[in-house]
Amino acid sequence: MRKYSRQREIILEYLYQTTAHPSAEQIYADLKPQYPALSLSTVYRNLRLLAEDGIIRRLDTGEGVDRFDADLSAHNHFICSKCRRVSDVFETLIEPKSLEDALGKAFSVSSHSLYIYGVCDGCNQG
Ligand SMILES: [Zn+2]
Ligand SMILES: [Zn+2]
Repeated sequence: MRKYSRQREIILEYLYQTTAHPSAEQIYADLKPQYPALSLSTVYRNLRLLAEDGIIRRLDTGEGVDRFDADLSAHNHFICSKCRRVSDVFETLIEPKSLEDALGKAFSVSSHSLYIYGVCDGCNQG
């Protein structure tokens, strides 16, 4: 286990308090006023290390910018194509059994993660 710097703790605490699945730039913009010494490259480096250590989840939502999630529980993500909001979907959408049925007898499924695309409730009402 790596020893964590103070800056890494700050970033991790921030992630534990949000369900917004922020990008590195968003995390930096939110923390910078409170921690003026923080640099964007430090945020990037710490996010990469935290993701490598399996402490946070890196999401590739297909928009070319990684988003980060400190919730490691099995869940899927809905991405709004208008506002880019990422929402958690905790319902089991695909049973591992049905994936194995689709893949064939010799496959075993340990986990899966879905990205679902569409327009969120906020954008649909606006
Ligand atoms: Zn939206
Ligand atoms: Zn999530």
